[in-house]
Amino acid sequence: MATIFSRIVAGEIPSYKIAEDDKYYAFLDINPVAPGHTLVIPKNEVDYIFDLNDEEYLGLQLFAKRVAEAIKQAIPCTRVGVAVMGLEVPHTHIHLIPINKEADMNFFKEKASLTQEEMAEIAAKISQNFGNTQSELY
Ligand code: 5GP
Repeated sequence: MATIFSRIVAGEIPSYKIAEDDKYYAFLDINPVAPGHTLVIPKNEVDYIFDLNDEEYLGLQLFAKRVAEAIKQAIPCTRVGVAVMGLEVPHTHIHLIPINKEADMNFFKEKASLTQEEMAEIAAKISQNFGNTQSELY
């Protein structure tokens, strides 16, 4: 059975999309730790990130780098934090979270409460900035 993230990629479940190419997809986390919390996934349904083949792993990281750059431009923050856990959804995903201090990378605190309009606005802003990013290798 397809994972919930594959169903998002297929358009069966809506998402606040940030960016997409033939191999990777980025979208806002529905339950954000902070405004702009984004998930970056390979379209290939692999559960554990370190089971990706080398090319796909590097491609995912380069794609995530561009997304992080776009988040940093869209959301005022000191850095974009990175986390990979994957205990809830068995489909590789990189969490990118705008942070100002280490404590902001806290998945157990109360989540940010955003309206649909705010989520759409944030996604549009990050997405727009993604268009201006590029990678030397990717
Ligand atoms: P993890 O597997 O790394 O523990 O976390 C999975 C993440 O996926 C969570 O932060 C959760 O909020 C997010 N998530 C779960 N289901 C959906 C969904 O249907 N749409 C979106 N956009 N995010 C989801």
